[in-house]
Order: sequence, then C-alpha cells, then structure tokens
Amino acid sequence: MASVSTIKNPIKLARYVMEKTEHVLIVGQGAEKVAIKGGLEVVDPSYFYSKEKLDRVRRQKTKDELSTVGAVAIDKEGNISAATSTGGRSNKLPGRVGDSPIIGAGTWAQNNLCGVSGTGHGEYFMRFNVAREICVRMDYLGLTADQASNQVIDELSGMGIEGGVIVIDKEGNASMIFNTDGMARAYKNSKGDEIVTIY
Ligand code: ASP
Repeated sequence: MASVSTIKNPIKLARYVMEKTEHVLIVGQGAEKVAIKGGLEVVDPSYFYSKEKLDRVRRQKTKDELSTVGAVAIDKEGNISAATSTGGRSNKLPGRVGDSPIIGAGTWAQNNLCGVSGTGHGEYFMRFNVAREICVRMDYLGLTADQASNQVIDELSGMGIEGGVIVIDKEGNASMIFNTDGMARAYKNSKGDEIVTIY
C-alpha cells in the first residue's frame, strides 16, 4: 500500500491486503480506513517524525537518502515471499509513490523461481520493472540469482542510477547486489550460515 502516514506498521497492512482482500494495492485515506477496520495499530503522524533525519535531509538537498527495508524468504514448503517498506526518497513531491509498493518494480515473489526486494531510485525501478526483470531473466535465460541481479544492477549503473537488490532463488540461495557505497544486509539459512554486513 502507499501514501499512508498513520499506520504504525505499514507492512502489516500490506499483508492484510494480500490475505484478506482481493486487492493488490490500496492508498491514502482509504488504506487507513481499511487498517482501522482490520484492527491494525494507528498512530499520529508525529510518531514518524525524526528531527535528526529531517536535519540531515535539509543539509543534503540533492543527495538521496535510502531508507528502505526489504526482506525475502523461502519456507520449507518452497513458498517464496518478499516485502519492501519505505518512507520513499528524500525531498519528494507530495503524492509521489515509489517503486517499493509496486509489484514487479520494487518487490516480486514467485514460487519455484525467486523473490526480490529492491532499494534505490524508485522512478527507474518502476520504469525498468527491476524486481520482475531479475526473475524473468532467471526464468527465461536460466541465469542464477547472482547473474541476473548483476546484469540488471550493471544496466542501472550504466545509466547512472543507484540501487541494490536482495534476491532469493527456489533453492534458498541469496544474492545481494548493489552499486551504492554500501547496503546494510543480512542472510541466514536453516543450516546456520549467516552474513551480516554493509560494504
Ligand atoms: N526505492 C525507494 C523509493 O524510490 C527509496 C529507497 O530505496 O530508499 O521510494
């Protein structure tokens, strides 16, 4: 869902929409009404206010600050899921919707294939349908998650677009590729392998 400012955990509303309604995307005041009806926690928008962040954004007017949180996972039955939550880009126009809630752009999950969650310049993730594009290359070209993610991120780099993706394939192999200075990321599987890193 998009353009909400009172829902404490927007990702819970996204799940509610997926599981309890026939819709994919709801926005704004309508979405907030659905959240209340669904018994989700609602807060005053000031709950999300951070003076520190606001000061930082004001200082670096042109530099985008990425604040997206994404997750991809596969369970023991092979169900693949992906979730992406964001405050969006800094200094955006009112009403702007980014790639994160757009299925295929910032988020994609498909059993027997892959799950993708992206962060970066959302306008381009939408134009190039980045999340789905990675899965499609895995499907049609037989690429690994690493190969497909590297290809797509390289193509973004070629256009001067910053971004990163976390990807999981149907075997649980993860790929975490980015062209930004760093991307905080972590991985864990049931065998106990773990990665926690930024650069
Ligand atoms: N992709 C997000 C957007 O464009 C920004 C981010 O990743 O932080 O809204």
